[in-house]
Parts: sequence; C-alpha cells; structure tokens
Amino acid sequence: SLSDRLGNVFDRLRGRGALTEADVRAAMREVRVALLEADVALPVARDFVDKVTEKAVGQEVIRSVTPGQMVVKIVNDALVETLGSETAELNLDVNPPAVIMMVGLQGSGKTTTTAKLAKRLTERERKRVLMASLDVARPAAQEQLAVLGRQTNVDTLPIVAGQPPVEIAARAIQAAKLQAYDVVLLDTAGRLHVDDALMGEMKAVAQASKPTETLLVVDSLTGQDAVNVAKGFAGEVDLTGVILTRMDGDARGGAALSMRAVTGKPIKFAGVGEALDKLEAFHPDRVAGRILGMGDVVSLVERAAETIEIEDAEKLAAKMAKGKFDLDDLWSQLKQMQRMGGLGALAGMMPGMKGMKGAMDKAQDSKALVHMEAMLSSMTAKERAKPEIVNAKRKIRIAKGSGTTVQEVNKLLKMHQEMSTVMKRLKKMGGLGKLAAMFG
Ligand code: GDP
Ligand code: MG
Repeated sequence: SLSDRLGNVFDRLRGRGALTEADVRAAMREVRVALLEADVALPVARDFVDKVTEKAVGQEVIRSVTPGQMVVKIVNDALVETLGSETAELNLDVNPPAVIMMVGLQGSGKTTTTAKLAKRLTERERKRVLMASLDVARPAAQEQLAVLGRQTNVDTLPIVAGQPPVEIAARAIQAAKLQAYDVVLLDTAGRLHVDDALMGEMKAVAQASKPTETLLVVDSLTGQDAVNVAKGFAGEVDLTGVILTRMDGDARGGAALSMRAVTGKPIKFAGVGEALDKLEAFHPDRVAGRILGMGDVVSLVERAAETIEIEDAEKLAAKMAKGKFDLDDLWSQLKQMQRMGGLGALAGMMPGMKGMKGAMDKAQDSKALVHMEAMLSSMTAKERAKPEIVNAKRKIRIAKGSGTTVQEVNKLLKMHQEMSTVMKRLKKMGGLGKLAAMFG
C-alpha cells in the first residue's frame, strides 16, 4: 500500500524537522503511483503532484508523526481543497423556469440522473419540475424518461414523434412558462465519443434554451479518458458543474480529480446507485480518502496536530494571564478553538458566558471569519499589538481597506475585548487543556 511504500522512503529520515525537497520528491513518486491506481488521469496527477510538492517542501513535521504520514496529510488536504473549494449548489435563482441541461457520453447515467435530480428538487425544494428528453438518436429514449417520470411523480413533456431536439427544448420551455413550472430539466442525447454531429446538436440546444445550469454527467469509472471527455464537452458548452455517477461501485474516484482539474467546475452531486433516491451531495473529504486510501493516516495526523494546538493554546492562555492578548492572538485563537468544538460550545459551557454563545457561533460562520481576516490584515502590526490605538479615523481606513464597515470593525474590537475576558476566566478554571478534555 501507499503507507508501506512511504514508510520505506522515509525510514532513513525519522526524526528530522522540516521536509526537504529531496524527501518530498521521493514521497511524491509514490503518491503519483497511488493517484494513477485510483484512476486519476496522468497529466492531472502530474500537475497535482507538482503543485503539492511546492507546498510541502519546508513544512515542519508535527511531533509524533513520521515524515511519510505528514506528506500523506498534506496531499490529502490539497486533494480535499481541489475537489471542493466552492459551493456546489444549483443555481435556480432566476426568472422561472430555470433550465438545467444534462450532457455527457452515452451510458454515463444522464437519463437516470435527470430523474433523480427531478425527484430531489420536487421533494426537498418543493419545486414544480418538468422533464423533457431530447434524445431522438436512440429509439425508446424518450419513453425511458416518461417511465421514470411516472415512477417519481414528475411531469414529462408529451412526446411528439419526429421533432428535432432544438424544437423539443423550445416546446418544453414554452410549456413551462405557460404552466408555471419552476424548473425544466433537459436530458440530451448520448454520444459514444466526443463526436462532431452530436456536439453541434448540443451546442444548438444550449444556444436556443440558454440553460442556467449545464451539468456534465460522468461515470466515475472513466479513467484516462476523463481528460478527453472533460475537454470535449467544456470546449463546446459553458459547463456549470459535474455530476459523478456510479460512485457506489469499485471506482476509487480519480475521475473526480480529473474532472475538477480540467473543467474547473464544481462537482455538484454523486450518483450512488440505480434507485432514483440514490443521489447525494458530493463529499470532497470522503472522495479524497477513497483516492488515497489513507483515511487512518489522515486522522492520526489530525489528532496529533490537535494535541499540539491544545498545548499552544495553553501557552497562549499563560501569556494572556500576564495581561497580553492582542489581535494576532485573537486570530490564531479563533482558528484553534474552532477545532475544539467551537467557540459557541466553549462559551456555552462556562459559567457566566452563556449569553455570548450566540455571538460566538455567529462569529464562527465562515463569511464572518473571512471578513475578520480581511480586517486584521488591513491593520498595521502596531494596531494588532495595541488595539486601543484604533481610533475613529483608523477604523474608517481599516473598513475601507478590508471592504467591510466601521460597524464590523467595532464588532471585531468588541469581540477581542470579550475574548480577553473569556481567556482570563479559562486560565482560572485550569487551562484550555482541561476544557478540551471535557469535550472528549
Ligand atoms: P444515459 O445513456 O447517459 O442516459 O444513461 P442512463 O441514465 O440510461 O444509465 C445507464 C445505466 O447506468 C442504467 O442502467 C442506470 O441504472 C445506471 N446508473 C446510472 N447512474 C447510476 C449510479 O449512480 N449507480 C449505479 N450503480 N448505476 C447507475
Ligand atoms: Mg439517456
């Protein structure tokens, strides 16, 4: 396994501090093999490894883990980040009907996924959905969708024999407008390979129906061909996302990385079975684990890192007790506490702090954190070290520099003061280590 191979690579360098370039390159050769075994396309694996190599060189190896384990964790984190850094929700926020066009190779699961998506939108989001099959290439394809419509209680556009795809799409959108449907799902014809005639047809449909979402449906067993498929479709239509099917099978999930790397579009859903309720949100962390096959190592390194963060937090608490807690400390503290069950949870457990729970939960939502980071980086080092010098004029400058408001700057400063109080109480209660132990 990857673990054994990395073990061999690193046996000779146990106990060293930072990862050197030679160490990382040796490890990355093994990682590259693991990626290829998981069906990541070769050029994608190569690029990914280069990117992560750069990131890993010079990183400190956490106490109590081996360099090999450290590399696996770095690779895993980069995988998770690459697989899903942006929101994967469907954009239905348009003047109805929202048009969703499904494209992909024949047999990739377009028709099944169209019905799954229709069912999900109907049941979970209470949308009125109309499905239409534009597949005139294959006999009985339109009837297949009609059958799925009856199974899921979703309306399908009545079949008119001999109508070309662009006209079917226009009729579907017209019907949706007249009958007040929220969403129109267009299931397009399959293609065995990326071929010109069908691509032309797909482009014509896209131009005529102006879809809000154009989703590429891909079989997760697609291996080295993934790059061609992704490039072929992305070159012809403006994709907005990818759906991976057959994630219930043996696929290690490498196609997910290939698709992300080539299209740059989010993976919005995963098909996990033939049944019509087998469509899930895409989970980057699970798929990363599947690609590397190193879930145990990842959680081991995470636990080791947490232990060290608790120790660091205790050091900080000691510093604070001496009356030192500046905005730099606030920032690192926010990040640490998030990992320990959250600020809100912490505040909720402390006598006299319950009132702050809501505010702290709020401060933790990621948008607020992004704003806080922007404000903190718009401050001078002096301001972060001595928050009391931040006067009205400085607040205006910080708000402008960070794209926030003076109110938000005020909130941040108030939060810092409240945190100082919390930290002092924590110290009195026996330190963060003791509290962390209470979270199990
Ligand atoms: P299309 O040609 O792209 O429209 O593909 P279909 O929707 O007709 O699907 C082809 C086959 O794949 C059917 O037998 C589906 O039941 C099956 N299928 C689709 N999605 C999944 C999935 O997520 N898991 C499994 N196991 N089978 C799937
Ligand atoms: Mg089909």
